[in-house]
Amino acid sequence: MEFETIVALATPPGNSGVAVVRISGKKSKQIAQKIIKERLIFEPRKMYLKKIHVKNFVDYALVVFFPSPHSYTGEDVVEIQAHGGYFLARCIIDEVVSLGARLATAGEFSKRAFLNGKMSLDQAEAIMDIINAETDMQAKFSTELLQGNLRESIENHQNELTDILAEIEAKLDYPEYEFSASETTNTLKKLKTIETSLNNLVADSKNGLIIKNGVKIAIVGAPNVGKSSLLNALTKSEKAIVTDIAGTTRDVVEAEYQYNGIIFRLFDTAGIHDSTDTVEKIGITRAIKTIDECDLVLRLSEPNAPCQVKTKKPHIDVINKMDLISLFDKRETENPQCHSEQISTLCHSERVKRDEESQNPIYISAKTGEGVDELKQLIFEKIITSNIDQNKFYLTNTRHIECVKAATAHLKNAIKNFNTTTMDIISAELKSAWTALGEISGTTANETIIDKIFSKFCLGK
Ligand code: GDP
Repeated sequence: MEFETIVALATPPGNSGVAVVRISGKKSKQIAQKIIKERLIFEPRKMYLKKIHVKNFVDYALVVFFPSPHSYTGEDVVEIQAHGGYFLARCIIDEVVSLGARLATAGEFSKRAFLNGKMSLDQAEAIMDIINAETDMQAKFSTELLQGNLRESIENHQNELTDILAEIEAKLDYPEYEFSASETTNTLKKLKTIETSLNNLVADSKNGLIIKNGVKIAIVGAPNVGKSSLLNALTKSEKAIVTDIAGTTRDVVEAEYQYNGIIFRLFDTAGIHDSTDTVEKIGITRAIKTIDECDLVLRLSEPNAPCQVKTKKPHIDVINKMDLISLFDKRETENPQCHSEQISTLCHSERVKRDEESQNPIYISAKTGEGVDELKQLIFEKIITSNIDQNKFYLTNTRHIECVKAATAHLKNAIKNFNTTTMDIISAELKSAWTALGEISGTTANETIIDKIFSKFCLGK
């Protein structure tokens, strides 16, 4: 396949030590020769320190040539490693364009690599996941995807389906040979094994998606219960403004922390209560929307005032400001005269009420940090309900999960109707399952799917 020569900055725009301009396509070597003003016979993959002639100035850069097919895209590729800096990189790119290349679109280098058979679709997606990885675990599962772990297991299932389809097609060609009872049992057994394996992949993907996307948590409660303080305590930051003035948090404040390799994104919301303040009312509407979009809700309250925010989402009841209770308890022990009956009673009735509701609230102090680590562990356990096995492979990409689900649905139909419908209908179902699986690696993906995937890539990749 031959395409136009394309160019893009492969490193992030801005001032940096080095900027890499990547050119891919038939004209790349010739363009490089014009820029260095020398008809150099490039040795493959060898770095040359050369003067580059760009616009009306001359600079030094390292130039390297990767001849087709041994390059990232599978085409002739030249990389120019110049001094970092937005202006210089821009000038080099303009020069390359004036010499016959055009600007690459997002993900176009990777798309060419896929179209030239250098990598499968899932591997290209894995590269983007590696680029975007923020945690060890995200990087680990992305590199495993890149190494072909998923593709291998999917291709095995495709091969098993091919064998079964071959048997069915043979019977269709010779209608006098019907499936015997033992052949039917055997084929159904094989189909069910594939179905179970695919179902397990989908079931485990819950953890995979958490690893990849993180967990969204809304902190809700009345004004002044300590929502902003809790966000700061969990993220060990000063991201949210803490004051004793009710209604300080008017918009949703976001911050994140990592725990056991998972990213937890916190959303500190405006205190939900009846308000006449126009700005605060908008904040409250946003808070309610945030709850809808979150995976988990922390219902925060003070010891004497249960949280009034109701939610059907998974939630944890958190009672804050326990340092005040401890203080009173302490005063009570040290000096019985100083006993604060009010707080003590409230605290006791609060515990009883909570225990009755079997909500098992957690008691913390966002101010002193007491109970905050325990809360982190509780949040983790609430979200990760089955252990993450580091030696196992998890689906982390929604597209892959949807492909597996589609394949499973066709398999299920084939199994259910195996004895009651014609073999050409079973064959069609199995072919659809095979095609759905092939979309993961891209062998059966159509142009629209391919374009959609690569359009999400960054420029220069
Ligand atoms: P929000 O309106 O719910 O976001 O509450 P803030 O985080 O702004 O806190 C309101 C007030 O409660 C501030 O004066 C905080 O210092 C105080 N506060 C927050 N958490 C605690 C806590 O655990 N103990 C005590 N004693 N005060 C707290």
